[in-house]
Amino acid sequence: MAFTARYVGFEGDGSETYSLDEVVYRTEDGGLLDVEHDVAALAERSPAAWKALFDERAGARTWPDRSGVWGKREWVLPEIDPAHIVSLGEGMSHLLPAPRYARELGLEHLWVKQCGHSHTGSFKDLGMTVLVSQVNRMRALGVPIVAVGCASTGDTSAAVAAYCAVADIPSVVFLPADKISVAQLVQPIANGAMVLSLDTDFDGCMRLIQEVTASYPIYLANSMNSLRLEGQKTVAIEIVQQLGWEVPEWVVVPGGNLGNVYALSKGFRLMKELGVIDRLPRLVCAQAHHANPLYRAYKAGFDQYEPITARKTLASAIQIGNPVSIHRAIAALEAHDGVVEEATEQELMDACAKGDRFGLFTCPHTGVALAAIEKLVAAGTIGKDERVVVVSTAHGLKFTDSKVAYHSGTLDGIASRLANPPVPLPADAGQIIDVLKHAFRL
Ligand SMILES: *Cc1c(COP(=O)(O)O)cnc(C)c1O
Repeated sequence: MAFTARYVGFEGDGSETYSLDEVVYRTEDGGLLDVEHDVAALAERSPAAWKALFDERAGARTWPDRSGVWGKREWVLPEIDPAHIVSLGEGMSHLLPAPRYARELGLEHLWVKQCGHSHTGSFKDLGMTVLVSQVNRMRALGVPIVAVGCASTGDTSAAVAAYCAVADIPSVVFLPADKISVAQLVQPIANGAMVLSLDTDFDGCMRLIQEVTASYPIYLANSMNSLRLEGQKTVAIEIVQQLGWEVPEWVVVPGGNLGNVYALSKGFRLMKELGVIDRLPRLVCAQAHHANPLYRAYKAGFDQYEPITARKTLASAIQIGNPVSIHRAIAALEAHDGVVEEATEQELMDACAKGDRFGLFTCPHTGVALAAIEKLVAAGTIGKDERVVVVSTAHGLKFTDSKVAYHSGTLDGIASRLANPPVPLPADAGQIIDVLKHAFRL
């Protein structure tokens, strides 16, 4: 059976289309693109057959079936030759049940989709495996692409550098000089990307890479690129698959540039179109109060949207005031009877610390999502018996600076209510025992 996909304008009438083998990022009038699948061809296979195929591959021992993304390749990049796939074993991350933490939040059922448990430590791997595989294919077809480039302060550049290194494709990362932590710098450096440290801010880097990629054969990997969303949408499919092909009532995700909330919606809507599920979950997009343009638009009934200047937030990957995918996100939320919630710096750090006390180890962005759940349960929007899945976007170990500062009580303007600082003691058994007796009532 021939499955196909192509680019169409996201808000177009379907008449402007491009082959996925073309280097194209936007429509003629500057709009976003969307990858459109031949759903009629996919629908020739029954829902039961798709589920059986995906379940079989999930348990496979062989590559690329075992990858959560490539195990669903007919729904992702149907025309790719497996020889061109660049995979680091992404996807099929654990759907972690958190019953004790759920009870703390007043819920009966809460799962954490651990997308940060991935090669470079964030869900960006899911999109980058698709983008870099397609670049690999285009280079093999003779399309002149000399390198893949992005402007990013962290997770995107780590993923670009790693996947390009695997495929022996040069990569280049535009970063603002002196505004990047060592942890954010080290992954692209280690993987051999050319790291340009530029005398500007993040928006300046973004402007510069777009200018360079417009006239030179460097492939742009930033989040307007709709290929990435095809990989990210597999998270929705995995969630349903891991729940035994059942749909939860709520899926909660932190949002910055807002590609991911749209990608989740794409995954759910495709499953519904194919009859694999019979209803859509409600979506919650959670934003940091300091970077909340979608939240503001939501409060205004989505009638008006104004970009803002994002203020500094510890959830640094979502510190975005003018999200590329704002209209994608609004469409997603409207299709899913969605909700937008926000969290202050205090709320997101407390939510991280609380989740961690129940065995999680969340990044600040996931903290934003956890804080949102807490607020929506308290407000009665999320019912106590409804099943909630939170998409955890990065591994907490990538963001230890803010955790250390929280537990040390050194975060400006934040009360470390759940701090668990180390206890300094001399090397003296008697004094140690006194402390333990007091702590554990020995
Ligand atoms: C990129 C990123 C986000 C935001 O995703 P968007 O698609 O930009 O909304 C959230 N958390 C982490 C850790 C990220 O790297």
